[in-house]
Amino acid sequence: MQYENWEGEGEQTCATDAPRGSGCHQGRVPVRGVRVEDVDDVQNAIRFATRHNLRIVVKSSGHDFLGRSAAAGSFLIWMHKLRNITIHDSWAGACGLHREAAAVTVVGGVPWGEVYDALEGTGYIAVGGMSLTVSAAGGFVQGGGHGALSPSFGLAVDNVLEVEVVTADGTLRVANACQEADLFFALRGGGGGTFGVVTSVTYKLHLNPANFVGTQLQLDPQDGAAWTTTTQEEILTLWSRETVALDAARWAGYWSFNSLGFSANFLVPATYTAASEAFTPVVQALSQIANVNISLYSITSYSTFQEWHTLVYNLIFPETHTDYTGSYGVLASRIIPFSALDDPRRVAKSILAASAASGDHGMLGHMVIGPGVRAGDRQNQTLAVTPAWRKGVWHLTTSVRWNWNATEAETRAARNQARRFAESLQSAFPGSGAYVNEASFDEPHWARSFWGLQNYARLMAIKSQVDPNGLFVCRQCVGSELWDDDGNCRHAEY
Ligand SMILES: Cc1cc2nc3c(=O)[nH]c(=O)nc-3n(C[C@H](O)[C@H](O)[C@H](O)COP(=O)(O)OP(=O)(O)OC[C@H]3O[C@@H](n4cnc5c(N)ncnc54)[C@H](O)[C@@H]3O)c2cc1C
Repeated sequence: MQYENWEGEGEQTCATDAPRGSGCHQGRVPVRGVRVEDVDDVQNAIRFATRHNLRIVVKSSGHDFLGRSAAAGSFLIWMHKLRNITIHDSWAGACGLHREAAAVTVVGGVPWGEVYDALEGTGYIAVGGMSLTVSAAGGFVQGGGHGALSPSFGLAVDNVLEVEVVTADGTLRVANACQEADLFFALRGGGGGTFGVVTSVTYKLHLNPANFVGTQLQLDPQDGAAWTTTTQEEILTLWSRETVALDAARWAGYWSFNSLGFSANFLVPATYTAASEAFTPVVQALSQIANVNISLYSITSYSTFQEWHTLVYNLIFPETHTDYTGSYGVLASRIIPFSALDDPRRVAKSILAASAASGDHGMLGHMVIGPGVRAGDRQNQTLAVTPAWRKGVWHLTTSVRWNWNATEAETRAARNQARRFAESLQSAFPGSGAYVNEASFDEPHWARSFWGLQNYARLMAIKSQVDPNGLFVCRQCVGSELWDDDGNCRHAEY
């Protein structure tokens, strides 16, 4: 597990860095598990769990921010060793619909870093995440999956051509545009660990655009002190206003903001001249705001997406050159509607209010929506992700952490701070939604936020068909309201 808070539960914790002599219990982890190596293993594991009335949790990377790849008293199916990558120059698929499409099939627990390595030099790119270690066929894509290529090519899930899944009855099913329509809908956004064990996903590939330009920007207060609220509001108002044009040109990346600084790491498929003409005036306008100092602004051409991705990674993780987690904390998420940019000052005030309500932990803005995501599944009928993605401009998150030895009251307070971030943005932008994979553990109306009520009703119907006895139960997952908080006892009324 990556976030260690999920391994413990109150006094039941058994942290690896706990002091000698402290109490140690089983914690909120599986009691038995199997490291599967092929599809037969997955089928046998499911049959074993059914025979012994066990509750299954599936784990690929263990990165889940809501701790859904571990559960007290559960039986684990671990996908780590089930790995293969096949690149198809032309992929017909089971129903022959996509003959012209180049595609990549990723099996089981393959992490995105291995997919990127396999695609290096082929001229193709896939829409994956920023993380190199998140799995390409696991919870990432089953929850939606965003990345810096999404404004150009959609969410990861928009690029899925086919999914192979072993369902609760032990059957290996192939879901695509012409068969298993319900499963194909549910597995594209309905969330991991819920409808079966996904053994492979086939993604459409795209040609690497001829030009990529990346920018790095860092703003600090001129006097080295914290910014005033007025300065923060001016920065966010200007940024919201300028985002309209950047979004239209498919700029993508990540911006972060707190009371001490503003930074952005962006990418656009464009020539150097076009990128500079679009971004440099924004930087100049930001520099005109009182008390703002530009401590870094660079603009660089890259020949491939991978080249930009590697550079950003080495900046964020200079020692490991890959992501690492392993702390204690929770996130909260909100997708901000594009229409909100009609009133940039209101957007700025709403972000500042959410930040204040959550204790000023700062926030990360994912500019990963753009025309590419908004153009997907416009009728909201073929994919299960929240319709908020199709109307969004940014995905905003905050992250609240605590120390390994925090008391229950301290962790509860931290969780409340994250929840308040989501609630504050929800009341500012009602009708929006949250990204199921990066949401608050305490998201209040999670079914509506993660999927929208229409999608949720369909997902519940599919769940009751493919997993009537609840072999796959995870917290804040489709159907989990039928179970107690631990997911081990079904509520009597059901
Ligand atoms: C460092 C880091 C960077 C991230 N960057 C991004 C990003 O750029 N874009 C983005 O969209 N998200 C990102 N995320 C969030 C990521 O999408 C979630 O953490 C996601 O849950 C990870 O999926 P996983 O399968 O790797 O993790 P796991 O914890 O193994 O699984 C997550 C969920 O999926 C289920 N699951 C896993 N494998 C399977 C399977 N084969 N079949 C059925 N269910 C399965 C699990 O039971 C669990 O419910 C990031 C997370 C981290 C920690």
